[in-house]
Amino acid sequence: MKVGIVGIGLIGGSFAVDLRKEYEDVLLVGYDTSPENLDQAFELGLIDKKGEVSDWELLDLVIVSVPVNAMLNVLPNVLDQISNDCLVMDAGSTKRPICEVVADHPKRRNFLACHPIAGTEFSGPQAAHQGLYDGKTMIICEVEKTAFKLQERGMDLIKRVGMRVRYMHPKAHDKHIAYVSHLSHISSFMLGKTVIDKEENERDIFDLAGSGFESTVRLAKSSPDMWTPIFEQNKDNVLETLTEYISNLQDFKNKMEEGDFKSVYEQMVNTNRIKEILKGIPLTKTTK
Ligand code: NAP
Repeated sequence: MKVGIVGIGLIGGSFAVDLRKEYEDVLLVGYDTSPENLDQAFELGLIDKKGEVSDWELLDLVIVSVPVNAMLNVLPNVLDQISNDCLVMDAGSTKRPICEVVADHPKRRNFLACHPIAGTEFSGPQAAHQGLYDGKTMIICEVEKTAFKLQERGMDLIKRVGMRVRYMHPKAHDKHIAYVSHLSHISSFMLGKTVIDKEENERDIFDLAGSGFESTVRLAKSSPDMWTPIFEQNKDNVLETLTEYISNLQDFKNKMEEGDFKSVYEQMVNTNRIKEILKGIPLTKTTK
């Protein structure tokens, strides 16, 4: 199988590592606007060769894993280049704008709209690693718009990297993901900002930072190049989550000012349910 990876960073590179392990005869071809990232991907053995124009029509599968703003130009261009038998999957963290931009493309049936719910706060090919997708969920949108035999190729890949599938409408995806992913990143960025603004001597932060602070602020290490276009494309949903979050913060503050620590306590007890809710999310590898 010949696979093209467009955007050979954390997400594309991690697919490359798993595909090399799972498909015996795989040839991995990399495309990236960053010559440094492309060189690094080659040196790390993520790709077998740097892609040339003549490679497009030979590819069986293309994974497009560029930031979501670039995705809106790159994806239609990729669909223009590929053969009629090639499957194109994306990994973008938004789905409505991406599905809309290819809605009327003559090769729409070659495209499978995907969002792997897997990642880390690190970027670039050096962050790619085996097993990133193991036991995680792949959200697929508008599956009925993809040619059936190409769906099968995508499903085989998804299964081999150990993911389970959840089908969603692009609008529902963008609404729900705003709560569980986009708001978490904003919350972490603003927690980091609040502490940095307050602490003039940064040494104190490092001395006092416990594992609670470190784990809550982990997502604030994420790439602004990747996250700004996500917030921009999902602005309405993200603003809705922020309104609700700020209202909860204000309510918590009000209760403290009023000395109502019974309510403060109750809110935390009610929120402890998150332990049970998260237990319901399986973390083990799905059966192949
Ligand atoms: P990344 O590590 O920064 O990799 C993206 C790569 O694409 C970089 O090498 C980047 O080069 C390159 N690139 C940028 N514009 C391009 C273009 N027009 N054509 C070709 N290559 C281009 O980012 P990532 O974390 O892998 O994220 C990739 C995609 O996956 C994004 O759509 C993101 O929303 C989605 N996603 C990310 C996560 C996560 O946790 N990171 C999880 C799920 C989905 P430069 O560095 O020079 O820009």
